[in-house]
Amino acid sequence: MTVVTRFAPSPTGFLHIGSARTALFNWLFARHYGGKFLLRIEDTDRARSTQEAIQAILDGMDWLGLHADEPPIFQSHLAARHASVAYELLEKGNAYKCYCTPEELESIRETARSEGRSPKYDGRCRNRQDDTRPFVVRLKSPQTGLTIIKDLVQGEVKVDNEQLDDMVLLRTDGTPTYMLSVVVDDYDMKITHVIRGDDHLTNAFRQTHIYKAMNWSVPAFAHIPLIHGADGAKLSKRHGALGIEAYRDMGLLPEALLNYLLRLGWSHGDDEIIPMLKAIEWFNLESIGKSAARFDFVKLNHINSHYLRETGDKALVKLIQPLLETKLGTALAPLHLERLLKGMPGLKTRAKTLLELADNALFYVHFISLDDKAKAQLTQESVDLLQGFIHILKTKEDWTERALEEAARTFSEEHKVGLGKLAQPARIALTGQAVSPSIFEIMAVLGREESLKRLQGTAK
Ligand code: GLU
Repeated sequence: MTVVTRFAPSPTGFLHIGSARTALFNWLFARHYGGKFLLRIEDTDRARSTQEAIQAILDGMDWLGLHADEPPIFQSHLAARHASVAYELLEKGNAYKCYCTPEELESIRETARSEGRSPKYDGRCRNRQDDTRPFVVRLKSPQTGLTIIKDLVQGEVKVDNEQLDDMVLLRTDGTPTYMLSVVVDDYDMKITHVIRGDDHLTNAFRQTHIYKAMNWSVPAFAHIPLIHGADGAKLSKRHGALGIEAYRDMGLLPEALLNYLLRLGWSHGDDEIIPMLKAIEWFNLESIGKSAARFDFVKLNHINSHYLRETGDKALVKLIQPLLETKLGTALAPLHLERLLKGMPGLKTRAKTLLELADNALFYVHFISLDDKAKAQLTQESVDLLQGFIHILKTKEDWTERALEEAARTFSEEHKVGLGKLAQPARIALTGQAVSPSIFEIMAVLGREESLKRLQGTAK
């Protein structure tokens, strides 16, 4: 059997973090088994589906690198096929036309309620003769016994068939219901494993009945627990239930977000850093946790800083270039790009996000005037020290990191001050900041002329 999974988002909002994790699990499961991963846009709710949301889903998947193996399927284009299945069920005698009016349905519900029963449809049209009035098509669901799902995450889950009513498959206007469309599409797309949020678990019982009524084999189900906020409450915007593009704009790398999402609800021993190739090798449904996972920005940033360190210097320069250009309102010159590339090894170990990386790198492309915190550290004593050091530096031709460090050490020994006493005012003069990579690295990257200009500018 070739494994076929699908991600089936409804384009009514943006691709949020929980949906992205569902997509990832489906993608990984298909990749693990050398199967297929498909994308189906469930746009049947025409009033709520928007083109903007469809684009956000496609862009988000693309950014994450979760590419589907075939072009996306749009559910709304397949309504005629869905309806034809309802008619097939009518022919088979597994569905029936229901002529009940809204008033009749309300009175059925009221009677049930007054008798203390659940307000479900009582199936009274099951034996009605054909009529010319408008009708909906209902499934003849089993009325007794149990429906059992051997869910690959939740284990065996059952429902008393008595609790489920004869669901509507086709509305009076002839349009198929969501429940029917999902089943027909999953069947037509030859989906073998339905992996989705556990908010769909109850739908799975109803959907099972449609499969059985058509004599189709039921796919395997895996309902994954939802994501909660760090405080255990349902995930909200405050907790990080944002569109995927918000994470991109926060300066996260897609590989970091994927790694984080993978660990959110799935584990492989104590491994935290799991690159996608390893994830494909290791992914299984058994290791998905049964309880809700908690979203944690601190952990996400921690994983992101790991991936920043792993990313090549050139690639990082490319990623922060537009951020810096927006900040400066001008294009970066080749000289600046060269500095960024040379300075990247020292910069990338100190940032958690691309935004932070761009902020920290700003001094390489633009002299930052000193902030108050930096100014406060510039005492007369430190300025004097700096002036002495500048004097020495001016005599140096060898402008390498090593030579500069050696010169600074000799200078501080001669003046009987710790290296830090000299390095800190130099750092402030060079970067405008109190925290930065090694000043010798910075001076080597900035070059002799620019370094001396900045040092002298501050030590006037
Ligand atoms: N369209 C549904 C959703 O976005 C998913 C349906 C399914 O996976 O079966 O929640």
